[in-house]
Amino acid sequence: MTTTPPLCYKRHMTIREQLSQLPSVDECLKSSYGQKWLASFPRKTVLRAVREVIDSKRKEILNGASTDVSIEAVSRDIETVVKKLSAYKLRPLINATGIVMHTNLGRSLLSERALAHVSATARSFSNLEYEIPTGKRGKRYSHIQDIIRELTGAEDAVVVNNNAAAVLLCLDTFAKGREVIVSRGELVEIGGSFRIPEVMKASGAILREVGTTNKTHPADYENALCGDTALLLKVHQSNYRITGFTEEVPLEKLVKLGKEFRLPVVADLGSGCMINLSKYGVHGEPTVQEVVRTGADIVTFSGDKLLGGPQAGIIIGRGKLIRKIQKNPMLRAMRIDKMTLASLEATFMQYLDEEKAIKEIPTLRMLTQPLSEIKRRAKRIFSLLIKDISARSALAVVADESQAGGGSLPEVNFPTFAVSLKPFTISVNELEKKLRLGDPPVIARIKDNALLIDARTVQDKEVKVLVERVKAALS
Ligand SMILES: *Cc1c(COP(=O)(O)O)cnc(C)c1O
Repeated sequence: MTTTPPLCYKRHMTIREQLSQLPSVDECLKSSYGQKWLASFPRKTVLRAVREVIDSKRKEILNGASTDVSIEAVSRDIETVVKKLSAYKLRPLINATGIVMHTNLGRSLLSERALAHVSATARSFSNLEYEIPTGKRGKRYSHIQDIIRELTGAEDAVVVNNNAAAVLLCLDTFAKGREVIVSRGELVEIGGSFRIPEVMKASGAILREVGTTNKTHPADYENALCGDTALLLKVHQSNYRITGFTEEVPLEKLVKLGKEFRLPVVADLGSGCMINLSKYGVHGEPTVQEVVRTGADIVTFSGDKLLGGPQAGIIIGRGKLIRKIQKNPMLRAMRIDKMTLASLEATFMQYLDEEKAIKEIPTLRMLTQPLSEIKRRAKRIFSLLIKDISARSALAVVADESQAGGGSLPEVNFPTFAVSLKPFTISVNELEKKLRLGDPPVIARIKDNALLIDARTVQDKEVKVLVERVKAALS
């Protein structure tokens, strides 16, 4: 369908006439529309919108374009701009990529229980740094020490803003100006900005690389030991795997070496998996408890990867070392906020009941949900779409694979079901863009010239809106 410009009288008006008919800022504000906007939106926002619209109309007129300058038409444009200016920039969207811990889409979703605890403790005063039994000043970290100890078996714990901060803080506390031995196969980059060599540099520790990319032997560590060695660091190769002719020194061996030479061994675990997921068909990630049992002195992991909580960095390990970290003034600069602390506490508490944790922590639920459930959701999306869009797009439920994301389980593919769309009148790229630019945005992926809506990461409560968005994008 092509639209011809409305054949209206304005064509015959001169530029000067048109300009004179353009409503003024004052007229716009005093109109019934203006009064309505002022009642619902900040005056500043309304004024900015009015000025922007009048300005752009004036430019159109001066460029010789014919434009509707009636108060109704101008007001329609203003209203659109007011709404756009008043909308949050950070907003919810529908993740139809199938990537569960999508770093760009906010990683882990918080559980209802975590949200409730945040809401309850953030809307009133709390004992964040107050000891109720003594009436004295307390420590914010004290609230989650017991639960983390109980769940992980570690002696003590401290939490910071994210795992990058956790690693940085450990290096700063124990290795400033001294050497840290790391295998070359573990000098990883995670998410673009976290690179072990750079974090090391920022902390003031000196990186002592040992071994080669594919093979590192215990003797490599031993040969690198010197009077300046501060600690041995083992980094989990979160987002990639070296396969083939490879060898790495298991953490157990490093722990033995550390004991022998009286050096702390730090394991940066990344994911923070708290449940042995192989029972649920997800293999390949060591649990935090297993790593603690190896005897590593310090273990660090993220709060919003496999743990499924808020963005946070969890540092657990020997009491003496954790106390040293707590005395580091740098901790203050990385200290965890009360809302994060509340959601972290609630998330950890959920792990006391493993079966409930699997069902109620969204990240775990999405990773372990039975394939039949994903298929049922994909079929539901399909059946809600088929009648309305079959004339505009090919549509099918297809088997595919999703990813864990978040630098976890890089080699594990999760069988999934997706709704595949191949539009007839627009390109797949256009459909992807329309869905992305909609409200709420729907983020899907393109594969083999089809748009795939992966049912693994679509929430049941989002299905209706998703279907509306697809219909609108294809109409
Ligand atoms: C993800 C990851 C980090 C960084 O954690 P953030 O919580 O994103 O700061 C550090 N180390 C490893 C091994 C990781 O996988």
